[in-house]
Amino acid sequence: MTIKHEDLQALLRALEARARVLRGEVSVKLAQAADDAEDGHGSSDTGDKSFAASESLLDLAEAGRDINELAAIDATLSAIEAGTYGVCQQCGIEISSERLMAQPLALRCTDCQTRDEVSRREHHARL
Ligand SMILES: [Zn+2]
Repeated sequence: MTIKHEDLQALLRALEARARVLRGEVSVKLAQAADDAEDGHGSSDTGDKSFAASESLLDLAEAGRDINELAAIDATLSAIEAGTYGVCQQCGIEISSERLMAQPLALRCTDCQTRDEVSRREHHARL
């Protein structure tokens, strides 16, 4: 383990704080999305309706991004608790501390991450 205990504790606290902010944002955005959708229903104007619908989708898309980040934070927090933080979940090698500094939520080494992104792109290309 290349990461110092106090660095891990600091990361843990930072991630927990970030998760709290994100959870707040998600609930606000979901409420906004519901409100915007509601506005659309109340209006007889089709322009208003489609505007409200796109606003609502935008809120949902933002909430979705936050939820993805929350999931990444949760995965990182459980890796820290399990003592596996900093080890690639795919191939088991230690992730370089430079990479972890740049991307504290990285659960895989650069090689595995790149392989995963390439195979995802190929999957999309096939669709
Ligand atoms: Zn790896």
